[in-house]
Amino acid sequence: MDSQTLTTETVLNWLGQVSDPEVPVLSILDLGIVRDVRIPEPGTVAVTITPTYSGCPAMDVISMQIRMVLAAHGVQKVQIGQQLSPAWTTDWMSETGRQKLKAYGIAPPQYDANRKRALFEEDTVPCPHCNSADTKLISGFGSTSCKSQYQCNHCHEPFEHFKCH
Ligand SMILES: [Zn+2]
Repeated sequence: MDSQTLTTETVLNWLGQVSDPEVPVLSILDLGIVRDVRIPEPGTVAVTITPTYSGCPAMDVISMQIRMVLAAHGVQKVQIGQQLSPAWTTDWMSETGRQKLKAYGIAPPQYDANRKRALFEEDTVPCPHCNSADTKLISGFGSTSCKSQYQCNHCHEPFEHFKCH
């Protein structure tokens, strides 16, 4: 790749190949954590990301993957910055991302991130398998801290709900 012709659109396409370590069906673009991509000078790419939650260990993995994807395309100089404010919310997740989650069997987050709510107190989470609203929370923590475990009372399938913030 000629560094002179590198555009932010090209970089964004590459970043679409970087998946979320916790939910591999989602790219970091689906997740909505890429805030800014710039090319401050030819051959250098600056990426700004917002962590899904502060201290999320996945961010180190994501930063490394961004560097690896860009290096694979010949970009050696990569600056990765973090923007902590405004904080990421699941509202930033793309519609494509929500559909991918559901197809994967994980109930996507609801659009209510700005509303305060107590731990373990969530709205009805529709079943990703049969769309029934008759579901119950089994455990506040699923395979990772970003997911809780549910079971559908209708089709009896267990499923995970992406709940981070
Ligand atoms: Zn169901």
